[in-house]
Amino acid sequence: MSDQIVYESSLMSLSQGRPYLAIPGPSVMPDQVLQAMHRASPNIYEGELHDLTHALIPDLKAVARTVHQVAIYIGNGHAAWEAALTNVLSPGDTVLVLATGQFCIGWGAVAEGLGCTVQTIDYGPQSPIDLTQVQAALAADQDGRIKAVLAVHVDTSTSVKNDIAGLRHVMDKTGHPALLMVDCIASLGCDRFEMDVWGVDVMVSACQKGLMTPAGISFVWYNDKAAAQRGACVTRYWDWAPRTAPEFYYQYFNGTAPTHHLYGLHAALGMIKAEGLDHVFARHARLAEAIWAAAEKWACDGGLALNIADPAYRSHAVTSIAMTSPDADRLRQWCEETCGLTLGIGLGRDPADAYFRIGHMGHVNAHMIMGVLGTINAGLRALDIPHGPGALDAASAVVAGADVTPP
Ligand SMILES: *Cc1c(COP(=O)(O)O)cnc(C)c1O
Repeated sequence: MSDQIVYESSLMSLSQGRPYLAIPGPSVMPDQVLQAMHRASPNIYEGELHDLTHALIPDLKAVARTVHQVAIYIGNGHAAWEAALTNVLSPGDTVLVLATGQFCIGWGAVAEGLGCTVQTIDYGPQSPIDLTQVQAALAADQDGRIKAVLAVHVDTSTSVKNDIAGLRHVMDKTGHPALLMVDCIASLGCDRFEMDVWGVDVMVSACQKGLMTPAGISFVWYNDKAAAQRGACVTRYWDWAPRTAPEFYYQYFNGTAPTHHLYGLHAALGMIKAEGLDHVFARHARLAEAIWAAAEKWACDGGLALNIADPAYRSHAVTSIAMTSPDADRLRQWCEETCGLTLGIGLGRDPADAYFRIGHMGHVNAHMIMGVLGTINAGLRALDIPHGPGALDAASAVVAGADVTPP
């Protein structure tokens, strides 16, 4: 054996170091959240866990900007979808699904599974909800079959952000009594959302995106109008009433509490409170602008394109970028294997390998975003993928000009 060091080229990689999961959920978990969860099982009968759970309720309402109710479920976003629908719908009811990507279609499929009729307006994968079409659909519903309008604030598959306040406005204009139900799973704690001011009746979210906690709990916020529209689909387990007015602690969760998730979420909500929700929104807005600035430069040679053309309808939490098939998969693979950066897949798109997504939700700051952009830029060069120059300069200019005032 010679003591000469042998560099095996097949093992050569720049990926050692802290991996970075820049996908649109699960998001990066803060050390504070992980440390809060690193403990023995707490006493579930009394004491600290009970106090901590009670204290979560006002913080969860604050992050949704509501004074109404919030129920916590052990389950992911799909669980919250089903929980919300069962409480307000009866078999045979009609729901109006406003599809701007695959998530609202998925929520509608849950309603269908409960025996409801689904009426869908599909705006395709590159456009926001067109409010005039919603107005026409509601005006045509003379006998009031539609019991709920389902919309996604930010559709994670397309990275479109819908105008929820505008949606309420057209619902009010037609005088239609349907509930407005909104999925904020991708947007909560990232893109500005105002449940009460915008007149949202039911909102669902989950903990693993803007709320920075490992996947496993989800939430349904609802107002008095939604509570009054009690549906026959509701089952004992999904019923939100005992969860929001528990006589006994176990009723919060209809069984054993998700103990460690509660500790993690408590830490995460504490971080949001300490930063200030308006500042959280402003940070996300600025970092999203840096990504868009880079992507617009990459697009100059026709190689890449932001999926949503109008910045007013782009999410501050996730960005979908189109390329030539199969370059998106090649790029994602290169970024992960060579640099330790994992990008999001072209979820729900055809062909999927012509799209990738950057998750920029939650515990994300400027150096992380500059790292993501720099790594993508290196990947485009390494793989000889046509792209315009100047992307990192453009992103730097956005970060350098950071006057971070709430949007
Ligand atoms: C992630 C996501 C979901 C699904 O959440 P799960 O926790 O994976 O069930 C639903 N809607 C939107 C908008 C999402 O981003």
